[in-house]
Amino acid sequence: MNLGLEGKSALVLAASKGLGRASALALAQEGARVMIGARDVVCLEQTAAELRELTGADVRAFPVDVTHPAQCEAIHQAAVHAFGPVEILVNNAGGPPFGPFESFDDEVWHKALELNLMSTVRFARLVLPGMKAARRGRIVNIVSLSTKSVLPGSVLSTAGRLGIIGMAKLLSDEVAAFNITVNNVASGMILTDRVRQTSLRTRLDQGMSEPEALDDIARSIPARRVGRPDELGALVAFLASERAAYITGVTIPVDGGMVRSIL
Ligand code: NAD
Repeated sequence: MNLGLEGKSALVLAASKGLGRASALALAQEGARVMIGARDVVCLEQTAAELRELTGADVRAFPVDVTHPAQCEAIHQAAVHAFGPVEILVNNAGGPPFGPFESFDDEVWHKALELNLMSTVRFARLVLPGMKAARRGRIVNIVSLSTKSVLPGSVLSTAGRLGIIGMAKLLSDEVAAFNITVNNVASGMILTDRVRQTSLRTRLDQGMSEPEALDDIARSIPARRVGRPDELGALVAFLASERAAYITGVTIPVDGGMVRSIL
């Protein structure tokens, strides 16, 4: 299938590694021109170089902390300067801390909502004028499976990401007539540094070997394995494509069947 992404301009946030990197890679493999952003300049530049090497696509890097509005504006400007108005936006950020509800005060809540919800709001607001003028656009937000079923300790993530899902649905309704789609990809258990530092780390600390720990995590997943970042990147590229023009306002899990609810 030709996804029709050749030459399209994309902006992918939090893309120095993990799911953001995989999304940028999938877009670059389809010939999109991609601006990637994250905080760590060295890691970010290295990722951009790797993606150029792997795909031959025009991939550039610009440092950004997505919790800083001025830095959000700066990377958006850099993307427009490099490739013209952004046609594809992939909103992603780090995850907030895990813990029980009563362990978080207002400051932690504000930080978590800035990181996930407000960064998504701001980037959508930045790209919309250009997308509306072009009467075409794709916004894909990376969220979590914790929006579909309870993941203990994930109250900060769940609350912020349900806000994203609500916002995306309302926004999709407002901009559908402009041929702009807004969708969310809900990540299940996908092997990235974040999972290595959380679910996997807990098990390693209990004395399991890495293969044992991965098997233990996989026990609750119908596919009986942890996912790969490229498996999520593939859906991001599809949702960003011409082929997905009639899909909007939805949240699609990439989870090996982990969500057991039917509706
Ligand atoms: P990761 O730790 O592998 O990568 C996170 C990326 O975000 C890095 O590039 C990091 O530099 C960047 N980043 C973090 N904070 C940032 C900030 N303030 N500004 C700009 N860049 C920032 O994590 P991941 O597994 O790729 O997760 C990506 C998102 O998906 C997170 O929000 C995570 O909670 C969510 N998620 C992941 C999984 C999974 O299984 N991997 C499951 C559910 C949800």
